[in-house]
Amino acid sequence: MGERILTGIKPTGQLTLGNYIAVLKNLRKMMDRGECFIFIADLHALTLPIEPETLRQNSIDLAAFYLAAGLDPERSALFLQSSISAHAELNAIMQNYLYMGELSRMTQFKDKSSRMKENAIGLGLFSYPVLMACDIVLYDANTVPVGEDQVQHIELTRDLVNRFNNRYGKILTVPKASVTKVGKRIMSLSNPLTKMSKSDPKGDIFLKDEPMVIRKKIMSAVTDTGSEVKFDAVNKPGISNLLSIYCAMKDITIKEAEKLFVGYRYGEFKKVVADVVIEELAPFQERYRKILADKSYETALKEGAEKASKIANETLKRVKKAVGLLTID
Ligand code: ATP
Ligand code: MG
Repeated sequence: MGERILTGIKPTGQLTLGNYIAVLKNLRKMMDRGECFIFIADLHALTLPIEPETLRQNSIDLAAFYLAAGLDPERSALFLQSSISAHAELNAIMQNYLYMGELSRMTQFKDKSSRMKENAIGLGLFSYPVLMACDIVLYDANTVPVGEDQVQHIELTRDLVNRFNNRYGKILTVPKASVTKVGKRIMSLSNPLTKMSKSDPKGDIFLKDEPMVIRKKIMSAVTDTGSEVKFDAVNKPGISNLLSIYCAMKDITIKEAEKLFVGYRYGEFKKVVADVVIEELAPFQERYRKILADKSYETALKEGAEKASKIANETLKRVKKAVGLLTID
């Protein structure tokens, strides 16, 4: 089988530059590489409290952003996770093959639940990696483009697949995470020691930000002592983060960028970073606004769901049969 690529984003808030670099920026290349299944992880968005209207609006927004980033609905399948019932059905089966111990070791769960009272932590937040594994295996995906923070979940999916296949035969495909070389973990501009996240909006660049706002945020990004523009994640987390952003935007290596910025002062460097981010995002935002207005995401989501459900239902059937669920056609 050629490359089967699956990737998703949760409609939990305003998309950030981190989401753009991890997923959206690479959509065109992904479609050249293989068959793409791109989804809106709306069931996952319910794992933390969210207003119904916000969730709906965020889902529309995300669909429009995918299309604005160059997702071609003819060459790929764009869909809402909740529109394919096989995700939830497979989840009911697969939850029996991942264990409490391994789920409680997941950093995302630990991070997201650490600030919550125990009796407010939903079961879905804990079992998130089960559903995520289902998202992946349903499409026999072998490549899963993600940011570094999601690699642990893909590793767990691999364990699950191997465990399942050892028990029942070669039923599922073993996936692999695909992480961009630069920009795999974009950090907050106000605190370069924490990840830029849409649900924690301090110091983030949002894909909807006006160019002037983007410039202001980058110009006031926290930097470090010293004056050299060099990559050093430990001693220069702020500058290193801006360097990663620059390199991701320009598709160049850190080494190449360091050469370019020899002799630059921090302020001059920040101005160039702001320029490239705005240069990239301005036309993207223009396309996004057009798509929101013409509602072309509606047809894309409908056709995408048709394509996706065919494949997902086949896998579900295969799994049901393997585990001994009686199927009557
Ligand atoms: P949330 O706070 O709701 O978890 P998020 O910004 O982490 O939001 P997700 O929907 O969880 O976004 O993740 C979507 C994709 O973006 C994943 O592939 C994830 O690894 C990637 N991603 C998220 N944040 C970053 C970041 N700061 N740098 C690089 N990639 C990121
Ligand atoms: Mg996240």
